[in-house]
Amino acid sequence: MSEETPAMRAPLAGALTNNETRNLPVVIGVDLGGTQIRAAVLRGAELISRVAQLTGEDTAPEHLIPRIFNAIQQALDEARTTLEQVAGIGIATPGPLDHRTGIVYAPPNMPGWDIVPLRDIFEQHFSPASKGGDAAQLRIFVENDAHAAGLGEYLFGAGRGCSNMVYLTLSTGIGGGVIVDGKIVEGVNGTAGELGHMTIDRHGGRCRCGNYGCLEYLASGTAIARYADEAIAAGQGVELLEFARALQQHGNELELLAHEAAGVGYEGSPGNLEAPRITAHMVSQAAQAGIPLARAIITNAAEAIGVGLVNVIHIFNPQVIVLGGGVTQMGPMLMEPALRIVQERTMKVPLDAVRIVLAELGGNAGLVGAGALVYYYMQAQ
Ligand SMILES: [Zn+2]
Repeated sequence: MSEETPAMRAPLAGALTNNETRNLPVVIGVDLGGTQIRAAVLRGAELISRVAQLTGEDTAPEHLIPRIFNAIQQALDEARTTLEQVAGIGIATPGPLDHRTGIVYAPPNMPGWDIVPLRDIFEQHFSPASKGGDAAQLRIFVENDAHAAGLGEYLFGAGRGCSNMVYLTLSTGIGGGVIVDGKIVEGVNGTAGELGHMTIDRHGGRCRCGNYGCLEYLASGTAIARYADEAIAAGQGVELLEFARALQQHGNELELLAHEAAGVGYEGSPGNLEAPRITAHMVSQAAQAGIPLARAIITNAAEAIGVGLVNVIHIFNPQVIVLGGGVTQMGPMLMEPALRIVQERTMKVPLDAVRIVLAELGGNAGLVGAGALVYYYMQAQ
């Protein structure tokens, strides 16, 4: 890394002007997930190159980490740049982890990761000594993926210009990143901001975290699909089940057409029409088609989100709450019941101060957030 990174001294708290963004050094972002490994060379929110691979079945660190190194090299090659030209590497991974030590502690969706000193492993791999050079040590930063995505929205997305911001990602799980007075709230060992595991219903079912009635248990994509499965199992979901079968049938026909068009023939199975796998997206489509059970499931999840937002506003008094993740694509049928609860139940003074907005970085939030770690931590030092 070069010593000349004058843009690192540019003010990062709050909004960056276009000019400041142009002057930012180039960084590497790595977004490590249970489904995909992604690496990018970035400048601010601009992706200069992007490499994505499926994580695959074998998530053991000894298999996955060399693949991440390869993905980084590929991203550098595609960006026609070299390690010497980047200011640092930011890695966003599922928690729990301690960002100060860079140690990852057994994320539930990454089997085999049990106390992995990720930052040390990267530092060793990318150290100038191991490359035979005499350049300065490349800086590596490891952060919880939701904290990183929140930081990305704070510096380059919907939270620009706000020093008190809460990011809530509604996806297969629910995660959070909290910025108070321009700083990520980490807690004593890095696990603060687990907004998905705040209790909404103390009599609720058992969440995978061990707590009961968590927001994630009640309102994640996984929860929406689970409600539908439970209703079907209880014999209440005939209409929803038929809709799901029709969707799956349609999907199979599209697949058949695609195979025929590609001239490769079709050897796949026609799918199990007796028991189609219900997804949150399917429930959302059914609700849009007017199926009352699907609509009720989504309203129920949306109201739990509303209660979660009331809690977030009362605890943090944020200027903006940024909602990200695939579940937000359900649009008004999700947002309206959630916002109604917020209006009805929040204290007036913090309610008047807050804006609730959708994330701006979309599918690249993880990568932009990973890169943002380098700007954020190098500025803070
Ligand atoms: Zn939980």
